[in-house]
Amino acid sequence: MLRIGIVGLGLIGGSLGIDLRAKGHYVVGVSRRAETCERAIAKGAVDWGSTDPKVLSALDLVFLCPPIGSVLSVALDIVPHLSKDTVLTDVASVKEEIVPALEKLWPQYVGGHPMAGTAEAGIEAARSQLFVNAPYVLTPTLHTDSEAIDRVAQIINDLEAKLLYATPADHDRAVAWISHLPVIVSATLLLANAQEVDEPIRTLSQRLASSGFYDTSRVGGGNPELGRMMAEYNRAALRHCLIQYRATLDHLLRQIEQEDWEGLQANLSAAQNYRQTIYP
Ligand code: NAP
Repeated sequence: MLRIGIVGLGLIGGSLGIDLRAKGHYVVGVSRRAETCERAIAKGAVDWGSTDPKVLSALDLVFLCPPIGSVLSVALDIVPHLSKDTVLTDVASVKEEIVPALEKLWPQYVGGHPMAGTAEAGIEAARSQLFVNAPYVLTPTLHTDSEAIDRVAQIINDLEAKLLYATPADHDRAVAWISHLPVIVSATLLLANAQEVDEPIRTLSQRLASSGFYDTSRVGGGNPELGRMMAEYNRAALRHCLIQYRATLDHLLRQIEQEDWEGLQANLSAAQNYRQTIYP
């Protein structure tokens, strides 16, 4: 049993708390608003919750789970209250801007990112088993303490998530492809459909929308604040992916305009095959 702290009791922080308590760990939560702490206790996401970071003293491990833009300021607020052997980790969806700053701040720090989420936010969205079978990336550097890595790895094991390692830079480039680009592509689909000027056609398209549109629009219809943070904090990698995406889209558009149906089908076959290598 470890004594674990969670700072930022929302979707990810609350979901971590629910599963870690279920595995027998003692969980104390800190959030900005007192009512969030009360809801987290009532929901069973934490054993104890407070807005005062003093409750984070004498813990084995602390997860930083506020919105990306607040991770550094929240870390600065809490580190004076940690015991010197407490391991600190975060769950932020971008790592290159965060890891170097946090490892300077706390010697027992290791960056992390659970690849799991839903479209909702806040403590009410927290749920059990969110991380089961999902990839969970740790982003240690040459400066990372190996015991800190082991402690976080043990907890990832308890969550039944799939542990992977990557450098912060490689992590950010990879998640730009599979997480940040899809948000922009999917949001573009929704925005373009909303801009259809023929109102009866737009209304009919909404009525006819079924599972295909539901799947392709899901990530674009998620938390706008989180999407903006991903773009803001991972802009270089996201820009690289968007430029490649636009070039590929232009190529497919040209094939349609030129009625190159063989060429188009060959590209769609290549897309199908590539998807099968990712999801065999
Ligand atoms: P969220 O549901 O909005 O939760 C964040 C919580 O942090 C809020 O409920 C808020 O609670 C609390 N908070 C805000 N400012 C705070 C502060 N200054 N000090 C302490 N608590 C504060 O967001 P989330 O989706 O869980 O995301 C949290 C982190 O997880 C982000 O770094 C994100 O990159 C990462 N992440 C998200 C996903 C996803 O799909 N959502 C997936 C993987 C990783 P109160 O203000 O009510 O106290």
